[in-house]
Amino acid sequence: MMAVQESFLRCTVCERDAEHEVVYAGRFVTQIVCVHCGAVTRLDVSEAYLPDLADRIQTKPRRMAGVFRDDPAASVTSFPGRVFSKPLRMLREVRDVRRSRRRDG
Ligand SMILES: [Zn+2]
Repeated sequence: MMAVQESFLRCTVCERDAEHEVVYAGRFVTQIVCVHCGAVTRLDVSEAYLPDLADRIQTKPRRMAGVFRDDPAASVTSFPGRVFSKPLRMLREVRDVRRSRRRDG
C-alpha cells in the first residue's frame, strides 16, 4: 500500500533539479522529499484517499484483510496518523472478525 519512488523533479524550495523521494499511499502521492535540500512537501490526500480505500474495502475485502494479516504493524505505522485514523478503526474491526471466526472454527 505504501511505496517510495525516486523521481527527478524541480524543487520549489532550493530551485534545483534534484532527486526526490515520492511517497505513495495506494495510488496517491502523500509526500515529496527533496534529496538535495531535504524540503518535505506533504499532500493532504485524506479526502481523496479514504473514499478510494473504502471503495476498495467494499469491493475487495479479502485483499484488505490480507495486507493487515501479512504485516499489520508495518501497514499502520508507515502511514501518517491523520490519514489512517479511519482505517485504524477498520483494522480493529478486521481483527475482531478474525478473532470471532477463530473462536467459531
Ligand atoms: Zn530542494
